[in-house]
Amino acid sequence: MMKNLGCFDVVVLGGGPTGVMAAVAAARSGVSVALVEEAGFVGGMAATGLPLLTYHNAYGDQIIKGLADELVQRLVESSGSVGHLERPREHFGKTITPVDGEMVKFEMMNMIVEAGVELYLHASAFGVVTRNDKIVGVCLYSESEIYELSGKVFIDATGDADIARKAGVPSVNSLYKGHQPATLMFQVGGVDLDEVAKEMNEELIIGRKLGEDEESIVCIQGNFGNWDEEVFEENLFPDSRHAIWFTSVRRGIVDINCTRLIGLDPLDIRGRTKGQIDGRFHILRIMDFMRRHMRSFANAWVTQVSSLLGVRDTYHIQGEYCLTKEDVIEGRMFDDTIAIGGYAIDLHDPEGEGIMLSPVNKKGYGIPYGTMIPLNVDGLIVAGRSICSEPIPFASFRVMAQCMAMGEAAGIAAALAVQSGEHPRNVGGKVLRERLAENGACVSVG
Ligand SMILES: Cc1cc2nc3c(=O)[nH]c(=O)nc-3n(C[C@H](O)[C@H](O)[C@H](O)COP(=O)(O)OP(=O)(O)OC[C@H]3O[C@@H](n4cnc5c(N)ncnc54)[C@H](O)[C@@H]3O)c2cc1C
Repeated sequence: MMKNLGCFDVVVLGGGPTGVMAAVAAARSGVSVALVEEAGFVGGMAATGLPLLTYHNAYGDQIIKGLADELVQRLVESSGSVGHLERPREHFGKTITPVDGEMVKFEMMNMIVEAGVELYLHASAFGVVTRNDKIVGVCLYSESEIYELSGKVFIDATGDADIARKAGVPSVNSLYKGHQPATLMFQVGGVDLDEVAKEMNEELIIGRKLGEDEESIVCIQGNFGNWDEEVFEENLFPDSRHAIWFTSVRRGIVDINCTRLIGLDPLDIRGRTKGQIDGRFHILRIMDFMRRHMRSFANAWVTQVSSLLGVRDTYHIQGEYCLTKEDVIEGRMFDDTIAIGGYAIDLHDPEGEGIMLSPVNKKGYGIPYGTMIPLNVDGLIVAGRSICSEPIPFASFRVMAQCMAMGEAAGIAAALAVQSGEHPRNVGGKVLRERLAENGACVSVG
């Protein structure tokens, strides 16, 4: 029999960067909120050691503020982030914000608890209850039990549009040739990034590591240029361009983004399991390669492998507005712009042809509220990775600062809908933008 968890004004599904900010924004707006997350922690991919991108446009103007920036300030105060660091390649956005993944889990949990959000961990949302094309409840699975959670407005922040699809929202899978490759993040101890840089001189990003007074290298973004031949001979990567990103906020500890998992179906249990198995084998091979070839890795060891498989994209809903390539390149703004994008189009080729990078408009572009409002189903807002978009703009706004800004907008929109008794699709863009601006979010630029 289903156990009943009661009824909340707003129910958020998925506790990654998008869902956390959605839940906090809604709760701070004065409505009751439940947040459901299938892992045992909040943070999603922000908890895996990836740096947050991107708070500034190519001119250096800050385009993401509000809750996403509050998170960074809190992390800086609690020794969990080195703050925004300037980067040499401006078309990626002017800055990068390295964080300690474990501290992200703590700080996001603090924000959730302080806001009075009811948090359900170890709970997978797998079904919906609908009435007259309106979603009124979700079904959760946890520890062999099934629960029902009712609500007035639901926010799908699962990254895969899990709830929207279950509710019957038309959605599109793999818009660009196939799924972008997945990646299993890992962390290594016993490495000094200054030493790595002597062997591997690509884009170097400088800052003050946590607990240090002197500046040193915090991020290296590049590839194994010096060892191209060996990489090829040993068939180390399945794709043609073996990108590698190192981030080190504490001396000796490096988070590495470079495993390559091509051709998986990340929404099939077999594909996801294969990703975890192949990802671990790939980490062993990469570590063995680096220990043999790079002096800086001679005494390094794996300290952690992410429990989450890094899936770049799956489903996109069909919504009231579809963001286009022209929108992001021309820097279009909308009457209902709720967040500003500014990161490069960073598309990982699903067939292993490497990474296609191209700049967006230098000042940034608007992400309209209409991209988050699904066709056909009421009572639902979709935020984060799976909003309505063509594949090219998706490869820009998928980064975490933009996802957090979308989450904040979704949370405030949901609260406005509850408080006015309207459907989320009838919350006006003007009032939403005003409320976001009052709360310190950035909804316009230049
Ligand atoms: C390998 C990789 C590298 C990346 N590099 C960067 C980078 O350097 N910088 C950057 O800013 N961005 C980067 N990105 C993009 C960014 O991490 C994601 O797009 C972003 O995390 C999306 O945020 P989200 O909250 O929407 O989704 P996620 O971070 O994926 O979080 C979704 C959460 O929902 C939970 N969930 C999913 N389904 C359910 C369900 N049915 N029930 C309950 N819970 C559920 C998941 O457990 C997860 O915690 C990278 C992505 C990948 C995969």
